[in-house]
Amino acid sequence: MEKVLIIGCKRAMDDVCIGCSRCMVGFNRREGEFSRYKDEDVELMGLLNCGDCPGSAIVTRLAQVKLWNAPMEEKVTKVHVAPCVIDHCPHKDIIVSKIKAKAGVEVIEGTHPYKPDNIFA
Ligand code: SF4
Repeated sequence: MEKVLIIGCKRAMDDVCIGCSRCMVGFNRREGEFSRYKDEDVELMGLLNCGDCPGSAIVTRLAQVKLWNAPMEEKVTKVHVAPCVIDHCPHKDIIVSKIKAKAGVEVIEGTHPYKPDNIFA
């Protein structure tokens, strides 16, 4: 059973990206980067924000996720970094490299595929 943690931008989650619903829908439908789980048992464990600019809290927050879930004996097995970080964050490279260095599990860049090509067409 895979246990997925999504990491996004503190300034975008449930704000610019209302309800974080695109990540949730993408996960529920197994679309975008979640299509890799089409034939697997998988659960969403959480939506974690980066901790705010410039992302210096992300490693501590990952450790907090581990501690917070320890009483339930739940462990993250895959981390997905959302488009709000991958496509828009000026600190993306350092944030992703920190996550990859410390997560101890596979880190996938991307989540849902629902990025609009344009706004007014
Ligand atoms: S560090 Fe990047 S992902 Fe985090 S709040 Fe700032 S812009 Fe968003």
